[in-house]
Amino acid sequence: MRPLTATELLDAWERGRTASPLHRALLLLALACPEWSPEQLAQLPLGRRDALLLQLRAWTFGPHLDSVADCPACGERLEFTLDSRQLAPDAHPPQLPDPEPQPVTPETRLEGQPLAITLRLPTSQDLAAALQEADPETDPQAARDALLRRCLLDVRPREEGQEQTGPLALPHPLPEPLAIALAQALEAEDPLADLRLELTCPACEHAWQAPFDILGFFWQEIDDWAWRMLREVHLLARSYGWSQEAILSMSAWRRRIYLEMVQA
Ligand SMILES: [Zn+2]
Repeated sequence: MRPLTATELLDAWERGRTASPLHRALLLLALACPEWSPEQLAQLPLGRRDALLLQLRAWTFGPHLDSVADCPACGERLEFTLDSRQLAPDAHPPQLPDPEPQPVTPETRLEGQPLAITLRLPTSQDLAAALQEADPETDPQAARDALLRRCLLDVRPREEGQEQTGPLALPHPLPEPLAIALAQALEAEDPLADLRLELTCPACEHAWQAPFDILGFFWQEIDDWAWRMLREVHLLARSYGWSQEAILSMSAWRRRIYLEMVQA
């Protein structure tokens, strides 16, 4: 994995403008990780994929993330800065060859019956397939179930001291306590997949957890940067007749000096 050049980032922005968030994530990572095939990237567990995005974002815009959130209790707007190294202190970007993630085996019950469950961590492919089945905006439960079912490798009754019985078919929809237990087990194994910020309002001291969407955040920054960059290219090309390629290959520092001279 390597940082993207300004030209690559601008191309990714243009190609990703009409794409889904999922495709944007894979588009950026495919450019930054040429040593990985698109299929390998799509099969990364979501938290590992997001660790790569955090790394790429830190290389692109620096380790600090300036963010805002509105207090759900009093409406006060919080402005805060996050450090990507604190967001994901243990997130070592995966290396090739990537070891198969260990299956997750939560201990849970269905109607009092202990179950032996084997799950795998969800990937971008799973998420794309689950989104085809159900829209999380209109039916979050069905979308969650679709994702969990794709990740279920095996379910069978667990009988102490008895011979294992055959696999069990789970009811539709998944019983709520079971779905929650499965989701919690996946989250514990891959915490970056559902990153949450612990926030406290300075005005009313209300404390809450806010989800943090690294891709949405990164893409918004790329969008802001791209519009700014196109304007800089426009001003410098018009003044000096330089090509877009020449202007983008300059350091940001040198580009700014020329811009100051043009605008002086
Ligand atoms: Zn508040």
